[in-house]
Amino acid sequence: MGGAPTGGESTGGESTGGESTGGESTVVLTGRLETGAPDFVYLPFDVPARVREIAVAYSYDRPPVPAGTPGNSCDIGIFDERGTELGGKGFRGWSGGFRTSFAISRTEATPGYLPGPVRPGRWHVVLGPYQVAPQGLEYRVEVTLRFGEPGPEFKPAYPPERARGRGRAWYRGDCHLHTVHSDGRRLPAEVAAAAREAGLDFIVSTDHNTPSAHGSWGPLAGPDLLVITGEEVTTRNGHWLALGLPAGRFVDWRYRSRDEAFPRLARQVRRDGGLVVPAHPYCPYVGCQWKFGYQDADAVEVWNGPWTYDDESAVDSWDAALGEALRQGRPWLPAVGNSDAHSAPQVVGSPHNVVLAEDLTREDVLGGIRAGRSWIAESAAVRLEFTATGAGRQAGVGERLRVPADAPVDVRLTVSGAPGGTVRFLTDEGQLHQESLPADGAGTVVWRTTPSLAGYVRAEVRHPRADGTPGRGNSMGPELPWGPMAALTNPVFLGAPPQER
Ligand SMILES: [Zn+2]
Ligand SMILES: [Zn+2]
Repeated sequence: MGGAPTGGESTGGESTGGESTGGESTVVLTGRLETGAPDFVYLPFDVPARVREIAVAYSYDRPPVPAGTPGNSCDIGIFDERGTELGGKGFRGWSGGFRTSFAISRTEATPGYLPGPVRPGRWHVVLGPYQVAPQGLEYRVEVTLRFGEPGPEFKPAYPPERARGRGRAWYRGDCHLHTVHSDGRRLPAEVAAAAREAGLDFIVSTDHNTPSAHGSWGPLAGPDLLVITGEEVTTRNGHWLALGLPAGRFVDWRYRSRDEAFPRLARQVRRDGGLVVPAHPYCPYVGCQWKFGYQDADAVEVWNGPWTYDDESAVDSWDAALGEALRQGRPWLPAVGNSDAHSAPQVVGSPHNVVLAEDLTREDVLGGIRAGRSWIAESAAVRLEFTATGAGRQAGVGERLRVPADAPVDVRLTVSGAPGGTVRFLTDEGQLHQESLPADGAGTVVWRTTPSLAGYVRAEVRHPRADGTPGRGNSMGPELPWGPMAALTNPVFLGAPPQER
């Protein structure tokens, strides 16, 4: 029920105007959606020859609803004459619920939409009614076709795939950022400036459900800032980051966990050298919780923006999965953290990843993240080194220390930039060591274990709690026993892997 438009009226006789001298015609598409409407509703309209620009405006009613009942919320986008097939070529843009109008021509398009040829044929406006009030949702979409000669061709300026690196080194980067090309208020230039300000070496452009920002990063990247192209794929059962997409590539979002599409699209992203990273898996907003599992993931975003309780949940389930991976002898899932900054006052780079990469290139940075050779910092003020040493060997974050099961292993964290902070060492047994840093936030914490006691060790640096105390990490009580995160590392694994024992 609900999918079919109930009315289509053609208004305006303006199409009599000569095509070369302008003139326009407008089609109005109206309809009503009830509870149970499809996730996506397609409204066809025909584009004749010699259309220079398509402009769309839409609105829908917002009847009052009782507190706790979702009111009407309807997203919008458009597909061209190449069709609406999942993952097909017809995609021409998406603005979610952020804009009430948009336009597309050969020369330019509203951010979120792809400039390019306006070819004749059957196009579709797509509506995404992701919340429908009990009273239903009445929509009105106005499509205006403006006639005339097409303007010059739009030339995207994609960013280069490398910047001036320092060779094998730790590079800082935020892999989850929005601009005006989806629901952010920052221009790409403002995001690039904020990234430099935050001391970042790289960023990934991840606007929701569209690659339209990719073509604007070219002049904003530079020797000091690598810009990697990506997308935040916003499905109805969770969001995922496609990091390192070929520039201009679009990844479809029109499916749920119950459908077959996700594993196929995830494979495609990986075949192209990109990473699949479920984002903010416990975010409580509608449709934001991750329901696709982690079999097709390369990493998981356990820390999204300012530290909140859903991040605690993400770290807990990520930590549990480390134990499972150890037991089953299969690859473990690295943790990443990103700002997901949309607009001021959200801070670009808070948090971000510090990645050990061979050089400052797309391929090397993605390789470092894929291998888990990274830790998460709330800001560039936090510096950290984490190692495990035993039997004359040393291993760092994301690596394995291959020493006998009974060999003493010294786990060492050197950190600065976390005033009043508390260091926690966690293993597959939970927190086994806690030590507070001096007031200036710099210090070294050392703790001894063996591979027989700890399959892995990871570190957290926490701020004091609201009452100023460090808390006790492995105690119970009505409040969280620790303060907000300042830094979190991927694990160091200890001893031989299970398949070699
Ligand atoms: Zn999201
Ligand atoms: Zn986001």
